Amino acid sequence: MSALPIASFPEVRAFARTLIRRHRGSLAIMLSLYAVAAVAALVPAYVIGILINDATTHALSDARITAALEVLASSSLAYGALTFFARRRSYILGERVFADLRDSFLQSVLNLPLLEVERAGTGDLLSRTTSDVEAMSRTVRFAMPEWLVAIVQTLLTFAAMALVSPLASLACLVSMPFLFFATRHYLRYATPGYRRERISYASLAGTVSETAEGARTVDALQLADRQNRRIEANLRENFYAEMYTLLMRMIWFPITEGAFALAVAATLGWSGLLALHHVITIGAATTVTLYVVQINDPLDRIVSWLDELQMGQSSLARLVGVSAVRDTRPLSGPEPSDEELRVEHVHYAYGEGRDVLHDVSLVIRPGERLAIVGPSGAGKSTLGRLLAGMDAPTSGSLTLGGVAVSDMPLASLRRHVLLVTQEHHIFLGTVRDNLALAHPEATDPAIEEALDAVDALDWVRLLPRGLDTELGTTGHPLSPAHAQQIALARLVLADPHTLILDEATALLDPRAARHLERSLSAVLEGRTVIAIAHRLHTAHDADRVCVMRDGRIVELGSHDELLALHGDYAALWRSWRHETPSSAS
Ligand code: ADP
Repeated sequence: MSALPIASFPEVRAFARTLIRRHRGSLAIMLSLYAVAAVAALVPAYVIGILINDATTHALSDARITAALEVLASSSLAYGALTFFARRRSYILGERVFADLRDSFLQSVLNLPLLEVERAGTGDLLSRTTSDVEAMSRTVRFAMPEWLVAIVQTLLTFAAMALVSPLASLACLVSMPFLFFATRHYLRYATPGYRRERISYASLAGTVSETAEGARTVDALQLADRQNRRIEANLRENFYAEMYTLLMRMIWFPITEGAFALAVAATLGWSGLLALHHVITIGAATTVTLYVVQINDPLDRIVSWLDELQMGQSSLARLVGVSAVRDTRPLSGPEPSDEELRVEHVHYAYGEGRDVLHDVSLVIRPGERLAIVGPSGAGKSTLGRLLAGMDAPTSGSLTLGGVAVSDMPLASLRRHVLLVTQEHHIFLGTVRDNLALAHPEATDPAIEEALDAVDALDWVRLLPRGLDTELGTTGHPLSPAHAQQIALARLVLADPHTLILDEATALLDPRAARHLERSLSAVLEGRTVIAIAHRLHTAHDADRVCVMRDGRIVELGSHDELLALHGDYAALWRSWRHETPSSAS
């Protein structure tokens, strides 16, 4: 299994930049509001400095105290009001950016080629859509705005300190080396740690979902111990990954806290000394020291949100990584000239593996019923997947009406060829929505016609709201047979000229759904049907039978012709009849 890609730092940065650019206006307004609020927050320390100077020069009067109180009160009010509006804007902005992000992630997920999802396993995708999106939401909604605001506040406070007394402000710089080196060290070693943490969540989610989805197999093969061991190994990895980042924080937090305390102490001592020697006033010394105390708060936030931003960044890298998987299919291309599927000298290997199809050539006649038979592992399903255009042959060509199937835009290919699987999923939505999936422009009469073709119109009409009845997990419950009919009606509506049925997985299992046979034959009527047959009576009823062995076509012809050959098919037929005498005709 090869995991989905993770975007590189420059890719993440470029993505973040376009995201910021799109919201540039609101971002500027929000930051300006915060800047004005930060200036209002600087007023009290300054006023206190003036009052102290007044007191030391005996210039203090009732009027000056009253004026100072008025300034204090109004600056506090202004600060409160401005912060309120700024915060409101920042939350709205956060939600917008997050919605954007989710939109673009959803787009990339929906555009993922099926093959890649199969290759990467669903756990990876699942953890990206859950824990990474979750981490991203914290970053975008809280960490990013708080961080930007803290930077604005820090810069403005530094500027105010420098205005009051550049000389006195110098003292707080003693803590900078500690902050800088500790943080640099932390970021360098913690980033891979957070990435490891996220990857460990993904494998844990993968194992758990795989165990739950395959619960029956796990039971049947008594794999519980093995799965438990796997989950334990995942948990252990998860534990060590978390321990590592925790250790990183345990080293880093005390150093930064210490650095803050050091800055305050150094400024108090140094500006006190300057005041004692009359280089600056006591008021200025007080104001600068208060500013250093005050700056600790935004500086602390800058440094501690870095943590969250790191996590956000590694999550974003995983989200943006999904969009890096490009579907190689073009969005438009030539239309096939007819309905003939032509397989010529096709070789195919999964990934870097050995060839599982060798020099397969086959022309499928429009309208015929072709059964593909052969022992398990012969390559039947693989050929079916290639015919459905799910992957391109390694060499050779596979064309529909002269156009390479793997190069056809998915939307147009699906109008011609459909692979039928057992996923007769009912989506959340009305009956109409569920059918229109196959053909978005379908009119109500066309939808009703499709339902009628599979004998479903009568019961759909009796539903509480007819075509408008809500289905899906929270909607009107459907029996499995009705759900299958909806899925069949979807096929009728999609109206491909060729259907590929993999009997092992197809929803059209006549044995399981005898009573659906009429619906089924209505769907197959007038189409080319390629059946990957696991029961030989399908082969018996087909126009032609294609026998595969070890990735090659070894026999091709009608049932009777092949029996007369006394070859592979005749042997398969004999042993099948022998095994299941009752079902042979
Ligand atoms: P059949 O449908 O006739 O049972 P398949 O087409 O499923 O045969 O398999 C043909 C060969 O390809 C087998 O050797 C099988 O192990 C291999 N194979 C099938 N699917 C995959 C896959 N996803 N990755 C790697 N090998 C595969």
